Amino acid sequence: MAILDDLSGYDFEDLMEDVFRKLGYENVRQSTRSADKGRDILMEEVVDGRRRAVVVECKHTDTVSRPVVQKLHSAVATYDYDGPKRGLVVTTGRFTDPAREYARKLGGRTDGGVELLDGRDLREIADRIGLDLYNGRIEILCEEALAPTHPTAGRDAPVFEAVRDVENLPLEALPTPETAVTLEPTVTIRAQTSATFETSVGVIHRLDETDALVLRADRDGPQVATGDVRELVANRNAPRIDLETAPLERRFDEVTRERFGATETEYKAWAVDRLRQQHTTTVHYTGGNNVDYEKTCEPTRSDVSIKSIDPVYLPHVDSRVTLGEYDYRYAYYAAGPSRTTTADGFHRCVHCGEDDAATYTYCANCGSINCPTHTKTERLEGEPVCTGCAVTDRFALKTKYFYDEENREAFREEYSEMAIHEQAMENPALAAGAVLALVVALVVVSSALGIV
Ligand SMILES: [Zn+2]
Ligand SMILES: [Zn+2]
Repeated sequence: MAILDDLSGYDFEDLMEDVFRKLGYENVRQSTRSADKGRDILMEEVVDGRRRAVVVECKHTDTVSRPVVQKLHSAVATYDYDGPKRGLVVTTGRFTDPAREYARKLGGRTDGGVELLDGRDLREIADRIGLDLYNGRIEILCEEALAPTHPTAGRDAPVFEAVRDVENLPLEALPTPETAVTLEPTVTIRAQTSATFETSVGVIHRLDETDALVLRADRDGPQVATGDVRELVANRNAPRIDLETAPLERRFDEVTRERFGATETEYKAWAVDRLRQQHTTTVHYTGGNNVDYEKTCEPTRSDVSIKSIDPVYLPHVDSRVTLGEYDYRYAYYAAGPSRTTTADGFHRCVHCGEDDAATYTYCANCGSINCPTHTKTERLEGEPVCTGCAVTDRFALKTKYFYDEENREAFREEYSEMAIHEQAMENPALAAGAVLALVVALVVVSSALGIV
């Protein structure tokens, strides 16, 4: 049998730990058995509301004979657990007939029994959970994604919501966005780190920490997600969709599914290392001899127990809209009603890049979105126009903005037919100055005439 040939016994146990977790067993972990330095997998299953411990012996050998089953049976009997218990021997090879007979008498998958899984069973399980038995990698085959849309709003609602802030841009003028979604792999690892550090003076440090690490799990290697993205993924109540029964291709113009970059075993090992580092502290204490000591308290690999590994795709929704001469992009990570924006072309001036302005105004003339500095009023039509496309001219010493040459000509004619005071009003500052000058002149003249 060629399966798992390259694996050492050690890797086989790591692999089986992930397999059992994937099969739905709870609290799956490894422990060192002191008698023969072998390692068991300990886990739990819930039968009719009762939690039952399962002690697993892994044998990466060609044949497994009766003494192995016997030995596990006594290990189960002495295993300190408050509730029913049973055993399980798993091998990449096969069981001898006496081993099978013995396990059958013990009761198999019942309280106190020992269940046997051989290479053939393993292959069936492998097919079911997407385990590549030949290189020992469990490809993460994830069919779950956080819901990419709001539960009560349409696909493009976030775009419309963002556009609502742009002055002078009627929603009716907005074409249906081209909206693509990229499913980005994430893995949430929940772990418990418990350790007690003792010296001759007693316990100097105690650790009992629960962590939920959210990892970005694409091909760029694991990276801890922080901030809003972490919040979206770590939320246990965030609604999810099944990608098999609810294909996104029907709702989005383009769907890209990125692949997970590593196996569950690798993510787990990475998380354990990370948590060990994170919980390492230096403790100062005074010894019995009144001397001050310093000790680095670093949890060991077995102090960190992985409670669960939860892969899920995080949808990155990316909408594009063309308005006039400009393309706009609005993108966000989504998890049902919650989202976090990653690109927002609607709150950004196309001319200067200002993305923190109090208002943004749409220029219907060219399709640009502009900050107040780059927004002017079209003199002839009284509508906003941007500095980028406007044709200008000076009237009453003030620059005026027009959609085009034609409007400028039209206004020139209008201006030339205005009364002087109307023309002056084209430059309020100048006009106000003129009025003030007139008042001053009147006062001077009046006083000269002795009226005041
Ligand atoms: Zn600007
Ligand atoms: Zn414009």
